[in-house]
Formats: sequence, C-alpha cells, structure tokens
Amino acid sequence: MPELRKDPIVGRWVIIATQRAKRPSDFRPEKDTIVENESCPFCQGNEKLTPPEVDADRPTGTAKDTPGWLTRTVPNKYPALKNLSSLGKKSSGMFDTMKGVGQHEVIIESTSHDKQLADLSVEEIKRVIDACKRRSLILAKDERFKYVLIFKNYGLAAGASLEHSHTQLISLPVVPLRVSGELEGMKRYFDQKNKCIFCDMIEQEREEKKRQICENDEFYAFCPFASRSPFEICIVPKKHQHSFTDINENQVNSFARILKDILLRMKALLDNPSYNFIIHTSPLNGNTNELCHWHVELMPKLTKIAGFEWGTGFYINSTPPELAAKYLREVK
Ligand SMILES: [Zn+2]
Ligand SMILES: [Zn+2]
Ligand SMILES: [Zn+2]
Repeated sequence: MPELRKDPIVGRWVIIATQRAKRPSDFRPEKDTIVENESCPFCQGNEKLTPPEVDADRPTGTAKDTPGWLTRTVPNKYPALKNLSSLGKKSSGMFDTMKGVGQHEVIIESTSHDKQLADLSVEEIKRVIDACKRRSLILAKDERFKYVLIFKNYGLAAGASLEHSHTQLISLPVVPLRVSGELEGMKRYFDQKNKCIFCDMIEQEREEKKRQICENDEFYAFCPFASRSPFEICIVPKKHQHSFTDINENQVNSFARILKDILLRMKALLDNPSYNFIIHTSPLNGNTNELCHWHVELMPKLTKIAGFEWGTGFYINSTPPELAAKYLREVK
C-alpha cells in the first residue's frame, strides 16, 4: 500500500511506493530507446490488457473496453497512489503519514501507436483536452481530494515508459508544495495590487514582446522571465480563469491550436526532445478564484539537475529566455 509521508522540516509530501519497492539492481543506467512492446496495451484491440476504462470517447456507441474509441482513459496499472476508502492520517512523534489515497489515470490520446501529441490533428488534440476536463470534473467531486494534476512525460529522458502517446492525471489528498508555493506568491501580489499576477504578466510580456513566442484569440505562449531551464515555455489563457475545468468550447479549440503549434516548434527546433508538460490549476475548493490563473508549464528535457540545483533550489539556465523565444518564434 502506498504511503504519503510529510517532511517535518519543509512540509513537503512524498509518496513512498512500497508496492513497487526496488532493489539496487533495478536501477540500471537508462537505455537509449523505449523498447517497443509487441502487444501495446494502449493499441486498439488490446483493451483487455488495461484495467477497465473509466472514460472513453466512443462516437459510434461501441461497448466499453472494446475497439471503436477515439480517446480512452484507464486507471494506471502501476499507480503511484490508490483509491482506498479513507485517508488514515497518523502521527508518530514528529512524523506525519497518511495512506496513499489518490486516483492515477492514463488518457490514451489516440488509436495510433506512432503519432505523438504534436502529430495529432487539432480535432484529435481537442478530444484529449476534453477527456482531461471530464476526468478532472469527476475527480473534483471526491471530497478526499485537494488537487488534480494533469501531466505528460514524453520520451525516455522525461520519464515515459510506453511509446504510445498518453497523458496522465493524478488526484491528491494534499496540495503539493510547488502549487501552494506558487499560490502564496500569487496571493502576495494580489494583496498588494488587487490584481492577478498572471494577468499583469501577460500584459507586460505582450508589450515587451521579447519573450513572446506566439498567441491566438484565447491563449498566449512565452518563455518565462526567470526560466529554470533552456526553452522552458508557459502557455496561459489570456482571460483570467482560475481553473482549467472552466475552459469553454472555443477555448478548447484555441488551446489545442496553440499546443500543437508550440509542440511542433519545439520538435523542429530541438530535434524532437523529451519533455514534461504540466497543468497548474487552482486547488479543489481552495477559494483562490481571484488570484489563481491556470497555466501550462512545458519543459524540454535538455539538461540534468545537478548538485548545485539539488543543494540550493537555484537553477543554472544556459539559454536566456529572450534568446529561446526568438528561436522559437522564428521556426517556420
Ligand atoms: Zn500502441
Ligand atoms: Zn489572471
Ligand atoms: Zn505553475
């Protein structure tokens, strides 16, 4: 059973995944390529190889766990957290633990084994976004959960273990420290200026244009002023919106278009890099509607975290975001 443990010094939670306890010999150096599975559990016709689906886009009304779907969401076969009944909070002296309660799901983005997210059509990407929204809304109803994180690992260096393109979604019984840290910063700004920091940031970036990559009617993409690593990208809705799940039909369309555009630019410019993609949205029932502005953080995996970063939380970024944005803007 997975367990959540709280670091008594900094308050950060970690998941101790006891059910997949690894021995020293399990940590071999990374191989260059993902071994293609002959019987890919995410391919059409192999539905029996995954746990039963919790959501699917089936326009022709085909039966559950059979072919005929366009997107399909299934519980992760090797979940970091499990959907147990109660949180079971416990303390032993200074050490706090709770059961690893959470829902860990995989959204299979399309039936094609070889196409990555960037290669899907805007219509197909829209379906993926809609699936993320549907599942987020369902998980938000569970009162044990405080946060739903949508994320994607593409490529071996970014932590992907299966080639067939997929996005993941995990609901958590606590608000992660990264998120609460960001929220504190947003609140500090809001208390001073009575305005959302992201709304102001978009305004300034659009005036200065130095770090701008591209925009459309609803979304704006730029390289953040204090980018932690080369070619870090942020995508935000232009209008203030605290939760990803508030995205409307027109915004889903614009989001799909800008996401495809950005992923194609990154793929062309950086030779199809591995990347991590996360959506930061407001916590569930967090009363952060005015100060929180949901956004995407996209990070190509071009460098490794080393001792200095580990020891300080400082990052050394060898490509200034102004230069990164210029390169990304110029991709044809
Ligand atoms: Zn496949
Ligand atoms: Zn805002
Ligand atoms: Zn963020």
